[in-house]
Amino acid sequence: MNFLSLIESKREGKTLTPEQLQAFIREFTAGKIPDYQMAAMLMAIYFRGLDTAETTALTLAMRDSGDVLKFPKDKRPLVDKHSTGGVGDKVSLPLAPLLACLGFRVPMISGRGLGITGGTLDKLDSIPGFKTLLPAERITEIVQSVGCVICGQTDRMVPADKKLYALRDVTGTVPSIQLITSSILSKKLAESLDALVLDVKFGCAAFMQTKADALKLAKAMVALGNKCGVNTRAILTDMNTPLGRAAGNWLEVKESVAALEILLPLPARNERGEGEADDLSSLVLECAAHLLVQTKKSKSLAAARQQAEDCLNSGAPRRKWDEMIIAQGADLDAFNRKLMLKHTAAVVVELKSPRAGFVSRCDARLIGEVIRDLGGGRLTKESVINFDVGVDQMAKPGERVEKNSVLARIHAADPTQAEAAGSRLKSAFEISAKPKRGVPLISEIIVPK
Ligand code: URA
Repeated sequence: MNFLSLIESKREGKTLTPEQLQAFIREFTAGKIPDYQMAAMLMAIYFRGLDTAETTALTLAMRDSGDVLKFPKDKRPLVDKHSTGGVGDKVSLPLAPLLACLGFRVPMISGRGLGITGGTLDKLDSIPGFKTLLPAERITEIVQSVGCVICGQTDRMVPADKKLYALRDVTGTVPSIQLITSSILSKKLAESLDALVLDVKFGCAAFMQTKADALKLAKAMVALGNKCGVNTRAILTDMNTPLGRAAGNWLEVKESVAALEILLPLPARNERGEGEADDLSSLVLECAAHLLVQTKKSKSLAAARQQAEDCLNSGAPRRKWDEMIIAQGADLDAFNRKLMLKHTAAVVVELKSPRAGFVSRCDARLIGEVIRDLGGGRLTKESVINFDVGVDQMAKPGERVEKNSVLARIHAADPTQAEAAGSRLKSAFEISAKPKRGVPLISEIIVPK
């Protein structure tokens, strides 16, 4: 293959054939194309774009660059959810066991956080003994026996994306709709799914900051997912405000478990009532409801929402959570002891409201930056995470607060860091005299045409 001529073709805006795309992904994965040439190709794609046939061929070639999970035939559909990420986005944690209890198989391959965006695997790493890296055979085994698994990609899954993404990151070629679409979907297609729901976020702490950009990405991913044989839908959700009332790795695990215990006695319920974070539960139920409709397990969204809610309230997903974490190596006694602790960080301080009124802003970007700088997120891929730090008991837009009532609690490693975080966090909250209408959590549903 003459890769230089392919770069020149794309530079001139010509269309590449599926065979050419397959060949260059195969050769790049095998180390036969130097990074400087692939960087030139990525920039040509960034400016010239790819049409639907090219994007489909690229995505399938990336999927096939490594192992694709194989599952035995089973009446339980294989489903997953992908989120473009944000602050406090812990939906995957309660959703996986809920879906397993609704009769799905869930091979949830997740990622790590970078910058202000939290990562599901980092959250799970805060559970004593929990293993996020599993061989493909064990992933399949747990999915078949428990119904759900949440783990990282194996070394042999979608290696082309690992190499391409690292190169895009340092060549200014990440924000291409076609490259993002192929990157995300190649990984989801390697799970051999029947149905996928995408949570595409927009807002100050989202990958796509404007609703228009998020909508473009969502439409592209829905079209491509369906073209590749996976029933795919997207929901467009707000990420100007953190999801739930807690952000930070362990604090989010705690909130997720509380969300599974809505009607059960809450051992660790706090004064604001963790577990009552309506936006978190609504989004978990909404994702489950769409998958029920997509797989024809439910006739309408209304019926599906009720089915998901009844299942959540039965307590079965809370028990399924324990089953899943035990299957992934967790020490359940140690986990339960940790859940009972009031906090695990060395220092906890409260941020109080300067006046009475209504919360009109709870800035997800600022909160994400504060948590990252407390040690809860990564500045580089090598950063070591402190699982215990974060922010909880956040007051959310629309809520009434009194002078000196708690706007948030800061969990920090020492008093100096707690104080620095507190000063920055003040400007994340705005209190107005009158309640302001906020952005709805779910603003659009994108179904295939
Ligand atoms: N997440 C991915 O996995 N890939 C992208 O290209 C962007 C976000």
